[in-house]
Amino acid sequence: MTTAIYPGSFDPPTYGHMDIIERVSRVFDKVVVSVVMNVGKEPMLDVDERIELLRACTGRLANVSVDCSAQLVVEFAAQYENPVIVKGLRNHIDYEYETTMAAFNGKLSPDIETFFITASQKYVYVSSTAVKQLAMYGCDLSEYVPQPVAEAISKKLSS
Ligand code: ADP
Repeated sequence: MTTAIYPGSFDPPTYGHMDIIERVSRVFDKVVVSVVMNVGKEPMLDVDERIELLRACTGRLANVSVDCSAQLVVEFAAQYENPVIVKGLRNHIDYEYETTMAAFNGKLSPDIETFFITASQKYVYVSSTAVKQLAMYGCDLSEYVPQPVAEAISKKLSS
């Protein structure tokens, strides 16, 4: 059995992330979405909220689970059977960042491979950062994030 570990901030989860999760779930036996607790970055949504939203949005995919991690990605991945780290690539900026990270993770744990999957064309410009900016201007987010995520953002901003 192979396990794909899909780490990220998911602040907030977007349709770009959902598309990757769904496509990866068709290839690997199991997918573990790992919400990385990023110290130093002030998030919009709490880790618990992000986990809850990711669970709600991936509930129909039987081989997908969601967890959080304060460990190094390779240490988190090593708990699972035949782990592979999966990263999405939108553009050359993701490519540069993610390939460097993969090389670093490869040095830390040579047995754990990183696989890359390119973004679907329709989500290539979707990022959590852009969604947060649009949300600040009160824009409709329905094209970019699932409904429960849009609701959680609007609740958060009005509180
Ligand atoms: P962001 O870069 O939007 O803040 P994350 O840090 O949560 O998102 O990213 C987690 C993973 O998802 C990374 O591998 C990132 O490259 C990938 N990713 C983010 N948005 C998309 C998208 N629209 N299409 C494909 N992959 C994406």
